[in-house]
Amino acid sequence: MSDPTRPKGPKIIAIANQKGGVGKTTTSINLASSLAEEGCKVLLVDLDPQGNASTGLGVDLEDREYTTYDLLLGEVDLNDVVHTSDVSGLSIVPATVDLSSADIELMSNEKRSFLLHDALRQTAIDAYDFDYVLIDCPPSLNLLTVNAMIASHSVLIPLQSEFFALEGLSQLMLTIREVRQTANSALRIEGVVLTMYDARNNLSQQVEQDARDNLGDLVFETKIPRNVRVSEAPSFAQPVTEYDPSSKGAVAYRDLAKELLAKHTKIAA
Ligand code: ADP
Ligand code: MG
Repeated sequence: MSDPTRPKGPKIIAIANQKGGVGKTTTSINLASSLAEEGCKVLLVDLDPQGNASTGLGVDLEDREYTTYDLLLGEVDLNDVVHTSDVSGLSIVPATVDLSSADIELMSNEKRSFLLHDALRQTAIDAYDFDYVLIDCPPSLNLLTVNAMIASHSVLIPLQSEFFALEGLSQLMLTIREVRQTANSALRIEGVVLTMYDARNNLSQQVEQDARDNLGDLVFETKIPRNVRVSEAPSFAQPVTEYDPSSKGAVAYRDLAKELLAKHTKIAA
């Protein structure tokens, strides 16, 4: 998808919500694979010590010699941390539990909040010619998530269609505002995507209504349905778009990628 009018460097999107289990990793994997299907060159950075995105894309633990932690420290050749996946056009920087001590270990590092920003802007990355970098954030607003927000052009927020979904969103918005004021004034909100949506459930509809009333255009038209194929796919080390390409979940993630691309084309025009 090489576009001569595109500004140099990939578009970097943090996928964040400090709540666990809302669909960050699932969205990271399947939006990344859907963008790759559309012809984009995509890098997924696993920034969660749990390493679920790495496992979900089939990077075995024994193959994670170099990880996002080494990328942050800047002491590693990019070729050693960027793994190609089985999905054409999709690469991943895997994570392991070593990331969990980053908060403490990086405490004395003056540039600790800018490590991912700097790593993703080193000239060596240009050779990969990525169109998109997606960052799968951990379930907290810690130093890692702040690194992601400072490194990114925008934040994409998965919102689980359940009780208290909107609770906690104000905390996330506050953090985004703080990052804007201090370190990354250009940080935008890419959008909020409703995940695990069940159209037959009144609660899902209520959450959607609340989200659209409160957040307006920030909420993507595309909703990701609750779909068992989506939850099965990681144990086969595949995105759902490969595991079951015609499943409702795969179709929805493809729609989300198209909606995102359409927005970006509009902005660029
Ligand atoms: P997070 O990264 O925010 O902690 P995950 O993406 O790991 O959340 O999702 C939490 C759980 O919900 C996982 O077991 C995942 O398989 C499941 N899940 C996520 N999205 C869907 C969906 N659309 N349909 C069914 N299960 C889903
Ligand atoms: Mg996760």
